[in-house]
Amino acid sequence: MKKSFRIIKFKKNKPVLQVKNLSKSFEGRPILKKINLDLYAGEIVGLIGPNGSGKSTLYGAVIGQYKVDTGNIFLSQKEITSMPIHLRAKMGLSYLSQYRSVFNMTVYDNLLAICQISVKGSEKQKMIVEKLLNEFNLQHLRNIDANSLSGGEVRRLQIARTLINNPKVILLDEPMAALDPIVVQDIQKFILKLQSYGCGVIVTDHQVQNLFEIVDRAYVIGEQTIVASGKPKDVLKSNKARELYFGSFEN
Ligand code: ADP
Ligand code: MG
Repeated sequence: MKKSFRIIKFKKNKPVLQVKNLSKSFEGRPILKKINLDLYAGEIVGLIGPNGSGKSTLYGAVIGQYKVDTGNIFLSQKEITSMPIHLRAKMGLSYLSQYRSVFNMTVYDNLLAICQISVKGSEKQKMIVEKLLNEFNLQHLRNIDANSLSGGEVRRLQIARTLINNPKVILLDEPMAALDPIVVQDIQKFILKLQSYGCGVIVTDHQVQNLFEIVDRAYVIGEQTIVASGKPKDVLKSNKARELYFGSFEN
């Protein structure tokens, strides 16, 4: 898939998400050490690294699932490091889990349930649900139980759901994993759609090729910290990133 457009003006503003010197351990075992990461509005950034390198842990720290050991997190220049999950969501932080996390109800009700938490007024809630069903090609599946959806369909539902709280930042954890190539293209298209709304997006994936087709920049995690960052072509040239992750991967 070729990326058809790029928003190139994002760096004029301050980062919409900033992670500064973030360290996190589990039961005394260091997982992340001094992670620094910036995300600008309208930018898609890839987060890559070997299995178990701490990508999901970093997301968990940013959304407030995990307390960090040290470091600071800023959303729209406001410090959110100790803020509870629901307040971070309210401020515009959205997250798609790497797991199939949908409610055991119809596609329609899955979207409505989230709207009822974050949007006031039943007419407005219904309007948003209809808009998302249309935009994410879910209208024909509205009455289907979300547990019966295919892998690609459930990802579309999860991506649609991330938009309900009017996010400024969307964290996608392996949204293209375990999908057929043609479905991957479909999901890439929907991730680009998030960018076109002006959201800053961070995406993880194991297929570097799939990821690099849609990202503006990437960060590579290895040995518990960021070992390379920049435009895909530059990241691929990094000796450290090659040694720890890419191997002899050639673009
Ligand atoms: P990735 O998403 O890059 O595959 P993870 O962030 O899931 O990696 O995991 C990083 C490391 O942290 C792994 O060694 C994992 O076992 C460990 N880990 C993740 N979550 C927890 C937790 N809740 N408690 C203890 N260890 C965890
Ligand atoms: Mg993970």
